[in-house]
Amino acid sequence: RKAGAVARQHEPALTRDGTAVAVLVNISGPADMTVLPAAACDGVGLARTEFLTANVLHDEEAQYRAYAELMRWADGRPVTIRTLDAGGDKPIPGYTIDGESNPFLGLRGLRLSLRHPEIFRVQLRALARAAVLGPLKVMLPMVTNAAELDAARGHLRDVLAELADSHVAFAEPAFGMMVEVPAAALAAQDFAADFFSIGTNDLTQYATAASRDGAEVADYADVLHPGVLAMIAHVVRAGRARSVEVSVCGDAAGDVRAIPALLAAGVRALSVSPGLLPLVKAAVREIDLAKLAEGA
Ligand code: PEP
Ligand code: MG
Repeated sequence: RKAGAVARQHEPALTRDGTAVAVLVNISGPADMTVLPAAACDGVGLARTEFLTANVLHDEEAQYRAYAELMRWADGRPVTIRTLDAGGDKPIPGYTIDGESNPFLGLRGLRLSLRHPEIFRVQLRALARAAVLGPLKVMLPMVTNAAELDAARGHLRDVLAELADSHVAFAEPAFGMMVEVPAAALAAQDFAADFFSIGTNDLTQYATAASRDGAEVADYADVLHPGVLAMIAHVVRAGRARSVEVSVCGDAAGDVRAIPALLAAGVRALSVSPGLLPLVKAAVREIDLAKLAEGA
């Protein structure tokens, strides 16, 4: 079965009844670019930069090189690069706050970037420069309020103006957000993002009050909880209303048990760990959307 799936990994993923589902990959470090040829995927749906940039927070050139390598690997396919999502399960010594009583509910992701605009702007500069090399999309993690998205866009505009003034080559990237905070999911229609990508790992843990890394409560942290699925369906509707793309980049996108429910909720783009891509495409090919809609 696995061998058959690998043999067909380069073919597009169409459901039984012919609906195309984009399958992209999550890149969490350079080794993830060696698992598959880029031709097997529809692009990079999530590049995590905590691992690329932990040592180079202030080093624009080093970041540019890392992003350029991703763009070259993707060879013209869209590449979504997430700004630093430090904190929670991803501490960066010297940057994240030590001793928060509940780091998952603390200063993390975009919250931390907005506290450290000098570091955030280094990353935005490197990303805007790498956007010359292909369709690069910048994605913000842990967005909670529409005002944060607007503040982040303000930093992007300033950085683009600086680059233009100093005659450095750059392009304006698409600017979107992770939807992984329940309040943001339920108010997705209010966010002026260029795209939404649903982070089911954090969305599920916050919605079910069950830690994403707690073995004792693993059964509670269930993306198939009707409350979580209702939020996902709401984000899909908000994306359609705003005419922006909605994908899922959390682990649920690579979970064959969850994929039917995600497609039933209207999701048409999945971003998965590269090793899972062949099986995810095979799972999509077995689904009949018309039957799913009937609840079969
Ligand atoms: C998520 O929360 O689902 C996600 C994709 O981001 P991360 O796992 O990096 O927090
Ligand atoms: Mg997350």
